[in-house]
Parts: sequence; C-alpha cells; structure tokens
Amino acid sequence: MPTLILDDCTIETSGQATILEVARAHGIVIPTLCADPELKPFGGCRLCLVEVEGRNQPVAACTFPVADGMVVRTDTPALRQERRFVLRALLRHFHDAGYADGRKEDNELIRWAGAYGLDPRREMHPTPFYPIDSDPNPFVWVDLNKCIRCWRCVRACAEIQGRFVWGMKGKGKAVHPIAGLDTDLLSARCESCGACVAHCPTGALDNKPSLGAGRPDRLVASICSYCGVGCTLEFNVKDERIIRVTSRSDAPVNGNHLCVKGRYGHDYIHHSDRVLRPRVRRYLLESDGKALEGRAWEWVETDWETALTIVADKLLAIRRVHGADTIGFLSSAKCLNEENYLMNKLARQVFGVHHIDHCARLCHSSSTAALSYTLGSAAMSNSMDDIAEQAAVALVIGSNTTEQHPVFATRLRQAVLRRGLKLIVADPRRIDLVDFAALHLRHRPGTDIALLNGLMHLILTNGWEDRAYIAARTEGFEALEPTLRAYTPERVSAITGVPERDLHRAAKWLGTLKPGAAIWGMGITQHTMGVANVYALSNLQLMRGNIGVAGGGANPLRGQNNVQGACDMGALPNVYPGYQPVTDGAVHAKFQAAWGRVPEPKVGMTVTEMIPALGQGRMKALYIMGENPVMSDPDVRHVRQCLAKAEFVVLQEIFPTETSHYADVLLPGVSVAEKSGTVTNTERRVQRVRQAIAPLGEAKPDWQILTALAQRLLASELGREIAPAPYREWNYTDTSAIIEEIRALTPLYAGVTYARLEAGERLQWPVPSLDHPGTPVLHTERFPIGKARFVPVEHLPEAELPDRDYPYLLTTGRVLYHWHGAEMTRRVASLMQVYGEPRIELNPQDAEALRLNGHRRVRVVSRRGEIVAPVWVTERVPPGIVFAHFHFPEANANELTHATLDPISKIPAYKISAVRVEPV
Ligand code: SF4
Repeated sequence: MPTLILDDCTIETSGQATILEVARAHGIVIPTLCADPELKPFGGCRLCLVEVEGRNQPVAACTFPVADGMVVRTDTPALRQERRFVLRALLRHFHDAGYADGRKEDNELIRWAGAYGLDPRREMHPTPFYPIDSDPNPFVWVDLNKCIRCWRCVRACAEIQGRFVWGMKGKGKAVHPIAGLDTDLLSARCESCGACVAHCPTGALDNKPSLGAGRPDRLVASICSYCGVGCTLEFNVKDERIIRVTSRSDAPVNGNHLCVKGRYGHDYIHHSDRVLRPRVRRYLLESDGKALEGRAWEWVETDWETALTIVADKLLAIRRVHGADTIGFLSSAKCLNEENYLMNKLARQVFGVHHIDHCARLCHSSSTAALSYTLGSAAMSNSMDDIAEQAAVALVIGSNTTEQHPVFATRLRQAVLRRGLKLIVADPRRIDLVDFAALHLRHRPGTDIALLNGLMHLILTNGWEDRAYIAARTEGFEALEPTLRAYTPERVSAITGVPERDLHRAAKWLGTLKPGAAIWGMGITQHTMGVANVYALSNLQLMRGNIGVAGGGANPLRGQNNVQGACDMGALPNVYPGYQPVTDGAVHAKFQAAWGRVPEPKVGMTVTEMIPALGQGRMKALYIMGENPVMSDPDVRHVRQCLAKAEFVVLQEIFPTETSHYADVLLPGVSVAEKSGTVTNTERRVQRVRQAIAPLGEAKPDWQILTALAQRLLASELGREIAPAPYREWNYTDTSAIIEEIRALTPLYAGVTYARLEAGERLQWPVPSLDHPGTPVLHTERFPIGKARFVPVEHLPEAELPDRDYPYLLTTGRVLYHWHGAEMTRRVASLMQVYGEPRIELNPQDAEALRLNGHRRVRVVSRRGEIVAPVWVTERVPPGIVFAHFHFPEANANELTHATLDPISKIPAYKISAVRVEPV
C-alpha cells in the first residue's frame, strides 16, 4: 500500500489511484474543469496542477498516479499563480452573453474564476465568436462561445452514452465541438439523453426547454415516471413548479445519466389538460341515476364529497343487485407500491373479489407464469450492474432496449466498448443495439422457440452444457434432451431464416463464455406461445448453469416504472402481495385474519377476461386506476364496445384519456412529483419517491382517494361483513403507515422501511428482515422450489399468420420519444417536436412493390380495423414485416392487433397480426 503525504496529511492508498482521486477521497479540493469522476482522466485543462517534491514542474493531479513516499502540495502561491494564468487563458476565448450583460450565470468556470480572484466579466472575450443556439434540436442548447475545449461532452457521449455524436474540429484556438460530420445533433443520431449537458462545466451545452427558468428553490430526489429501469432524478422546484430535471452522480441505477424522457419529459406535470377537480357525468347529478337525453353525458365538475358518494353508492347498488363478482379493478404500474397495495385491499377486503389485474398482464405475464414454474420466482434474477460489469456474453432477445430501457442499453453498450462483452441480439428488426452486437440473429417473428432450441441443440452436441450444475440444481433435463435433438441447424435455419453459420457462432459463444445473461422484453412474451418462449430461455440458462451467478440470470426487463411493484403488491388475480397464492389455504387464512374478510380462495379474472366480460354483461362495473385500455389493449374496437356496455366505470387519472370517454366518474389523481412513497424497478430495487410539489388543484394522491372511498364503504353495509382484525381499518394518514402494513404481510418486503431507504441503503427484494441487506442476485444457493425445472417446448405456428388477403406481418412496440399510450409524452412539447405523429415502418423492397412513390401515407388493414399514418421506409424492418406503435390515438396499432391469448398467461399476441398495406 503506497503511503503519501498530501498537504501535510499522511495517507495510505491503493496503488492504482491518481493524486486527484486520493485528494477527493480525503476531502481535499483541487480545482478541475476537464476532470470528471464519471469519465476517464484526460489531463486537458491544466487547472489541477499540483507540486510533487522532486519534480521540476507541477503535474496534472487528474492523470498523475500516486506512489509510495510521494510528497504533494495542492495549494501554494506558485500554484495559485499558475491557476490564475490557466483561468485567464480560458476566459480569453470564452464569451457568455448572459454574464456579460449582467444576468449572472453560474457554472464551474465562473465559480473557479471567482475563487481565484478574477472578474469573469472583465477577463472574458467581449464579443461572441459563434452564433448562439446554433443547433435546431429541442433539447440541448448549444452556445460554443462558452466552450473551453475540455472534451467532457465528447467523452460523456462516447464513454457514457456509447454514441460518439460529439467530436472536435479545427486547430489551435479554433478547436470546437461538432455533432457528427459537422451536422446537427439529431441528424448525427443523437438520442437527446443530455449526458453532454450534465457534464459540460461552462453551460456551452445547456437544457434548452428550461433555459432562463432560473435557479431552483430546492432539489428533490425522486424516481423517473417512465420505464422500469428506475433512474433517480432531481426535480428542480421553483415557486412550486418543476422547472427542470437534473441527474445526480450518486444515483444507484443511473449515476449522472438519464434518457431523453427522464431528463426532458416532465412538462406534462403542469400541462393545462390536467384534471384538477372530480368530474361526473351530468346524468348522475340531475336524474337520480337515470340517463337524460342530449347533455346527459356532459362532464360536470364537482366536489370530492359528491363524487365519492356517487362512486360508493353506484358500486354498492351494483353489488347488491348483481353480486360482488360483477365488479372488477384495474390497478396501475404507474402508481406507488402503497397505492397498488391499497387497490388490492379494496378489491379483496372491501368488495370481496379477486378480480384485480393491471398492465403486467399485457407485458410480462408470460415471464411471470413461466419463471414461477421453472425457478420459483418470477422476477428478474440479476441486477443491471452485475450484468453490465460481469457478463461475458449476453443474449438480448425480443427487447429493443435502446428505445424501451434506454439507460440500461447504455450500460450494455459501455460493456461492449469498455470490456468486450460479447453481445448477441436476436430480433427480426435491425434495432439500434445491433450496431454494438457481435452477432445479429434476425429470426422471423414467432420463431423464438425454434431458434432457442436450435442453439441448445448445438450446445448439447458440443458438450457445452454444465452437467455438474444440471445434476446438482435442476430436474427434468432428461426430458429436454430428446426434444432438442430434432432442432438441427438445417431445420432451425429453415424455420427461422437465420443462416446456419450464425447459429453455430451464437451457440459457441453462449456455450463457452461464462457467465452469460439472457435478457428479454415483450418480443418474447406477447405471443400465444409467450409462456413457452420463456420456458425455452429458462432451459437455456439452466443448461449452462447461468442462474444464480452474477453476470448471468434470467432477466425479463419490466416495462413501466412500477410494474414490478404492482405485481409485488398483489395487483394480480391469483396472488396476494408477495406472490402468496390466493388458492393456498394458509395464505387465505392469514389475510382473513389480518383484514377481517377475503374472497373465496378462487383465482379472479384477468384484464383480458374482465373487458370481454363487460361486453357480455357478466361484469357490470370497472374501477380503473391510471390505466388506458382503449389505447393499450389489443383489438381496441372490441374494447370500446365492451366498455360502452359497462353499467358503471370509474377512472382515476391525471388527464382525460381515450378511456375517459367511457367513464362515468373521473377522479383526479396526481403525478409522481406530487406524492410520496416507494416504487420497485425491474431488478427488484425498492426506491423512494419523494414529493416535490403540492398536489395541483384539488387532485389527490391515489392512496388518499382509495382510502377515502374505502372508509365510506366500510361505514356502509359492507363494513358489517368485515370482522374485527388488526388491519381491518383504513385509517392511513400517510404512506408510511401503509408500508408498515405491507411489511407485516409480505415476507419479501419485511425488511423494507422508509428509514433504511432514507439512510441510503440499496434494497433489492427479498429483504426478509430488518438486518437483511437485500438480494442483488436471486437463487445463488437454492431455488424457492428446491430444484429448478426444465420444460421441453416445441415450435408451433402463431394464431394468425399472413395469407393472401393479409400478406404482411404486423409487429408492434414503442419508440424512444414516447411511452406506452403516450398520455404523458404527447403532452411534452420537446418530445412532440421530434416525434409528433405516428409512423409505420416499412422495408424499401415492400415500398417499391406497393408503388409507394409519392405516397407519404399508408393504410394498414387487419381483420379487426384499419389505421392511416405516414410511412417511414427503412431497413430497420425486414421485407414482409410492418412495424407500428400505440402512441397516437389517430393511428393506434391496437386497432389492428388481435386478442388471441396465451392459454396460461392470458397475454394477447400483440407481436404478430396479419395485415395488408395500401398507399393512400
Ligand atoms: Fe426514466 Fe427509463 Fe429513461 Fe431511466 S431509462 S430516465 S427510468 S425512462
């Protein structure tokens, strides 16, 4: 261990550190501009010069390694003189218009200049060299007059984002950053993540949407409201408004990084469309419940008392006349754990039904069903960290990670670029991650099982399976072997379209490199064979001994920011919180004793069963919290017909949505910035959501709405059916009381407390006790079911395939700039500026065959409906395949999809529908 003397302190260090790293670790401040703890040392600006005894010249602390016996001085008169010289030289080629005209801007350069006794206004160049705001993109403000050539933007883009958008051009003092080949940022394939902005020390790059918004009154750390990666962000609050979002380097998942939605996608919070008072249909106020002609379906704003009385009375009346079994509940993957817990309690304890579900049904119910059976736990087994840092090989299949889970995609790109992760991407589309992959397996949609069985066939043929692991930790392998034998490379190539040589290469890497991670998204799960697809992936990982090891695992990437938490909290028809089966006698008795009443131990209806049941009259009422089935469910024409037949629909939402057309009562919930609690990300990490601003208008956090309604119902005839019990009452005054109840009844969360989270503990469930540190990698020693199970599966054709009348195959997904039904992202001006209308992706060959010349729009028709939208002719999709998304109601891909379900998970087959395409 080298020992050095740093400003008279004797310090022991590891041999690898630089002087700057050691100084920072010991609280000694050395001024820097080009150095950034998240970037590799650069040694460009010379501001961090320090004196080392025995050397004639000062050295740059950011690049100079410490050595045993070294004596370093960081602050001497000579060094101060030197630094003033450096700062003066930088300011001589710097012009800040805002600072020059008296509007003092604050940045690292200005602060260091002040600290060294310089007046930036006098020292800086009096006039600009470059045009201000020189790039037309809506996110990043570019003012090269403030550039000091520290290369932090170039390095952040390359080292963090793995994008290489920024470069440098010119010589001497004329050196300046350029995007791509001196084009604009978006043309240079910028993903608008703002990493360059976060790392720029001078404001040469800044957040355009919030420019001029001023300094925040406070920063509130919370969690992003979009995807399941669960990035930490900081709401910048001024005058009770969110003026911008920034990142922080100590964030557990994302460090200083965010994607475009996380950093720039929060305008929706203050959007004028927000519902700020309860609304009810006029007929509910004016006709004693009987429909009026004409204006009956007008919305009328009302007070909470009236709205909740109507909801309680109508639901009680329906229960009285038709029975509890005719009322269903849709919970929300965008709401807090505490709110999903209450929704599960409202359905089960108050109404006595297990008919509760949420959008996990539509994204990862196949993963849940399959992994629960094969491994005994349905969640992502590993952490993003250990995959990014330790996996030797990763198979990403059916996941457009760059656009769905952008910050995790960044980690994968870093792993490829920094340490040579062998990345195999299996996807019918040429998605962005393919550019970083060692191999792209472009298999036909619906052939995942054939592909995976083919890879396992080759692993087995070559003897690459892990026999010791198979013997010690699994059962059923002997049944898998004969199934795999039939999946020869010739046959698999014929089914999938993947060349045989690529099958051999992929199998060799998957079979010989370890640890290996399997990562998947909805390209795997949203099929009539969704559960079988996941069985195949589980087989592959078990065969190679890759489950229970860091850098390996079975890793379904969960979609929405709290879809994992909503599942954990029992927003599913078959399990109580913590995946405790409703059909288990002991579990049934436990919740009966805790709550005072639960339904019969019989699995309830899924969302894909509840909606048709409304159409058939078997279900009468639906209570929806934060979901928009008219955008997100398959075959939405049928969904609309079913909702129109409902007797009563309650919607808790922040905006009027496509679903609110069918709602009788609209209860205003709040955005993530207006409430406090917890959410759980894709890797089972429980994180704190902190309230940044007060609820807008009369809107209320969803937990408060549910509590107020339940109290009202408990005071009615329903209350008489519920026995005294420790958790019978609904007297929550804040969410901390709810998390305590969750802890008491949910073993996975028993050790999760707000106090631990606030103390900075990083908790991934299971956390079985208060002294348990959490579980970053599942199944390291044993599976919850003892031994893991192999399940042989065969390739079968999908329910609907192209034919003569509908010759194209439609597949669906999301795009980077929008989220889900885009209720939030369509209300963010900058996102809409980049992606403001629907687009249909079509291969150039198909465009030519369809004679699209001159036609910018196409009509896509399926057996269920049609949409018209602009076409994007691109090689991203192979010939014969059309890609569409469900972000815009005017061309919602779910007008075309069908509701054929996987028989086990009940997930719809969104990924494959037969369509025809016509020029418009
Ligand atoms: Fe938010 Fe996901 Fe983007 Fe992170 S990666 S900032 S969680 S949308």
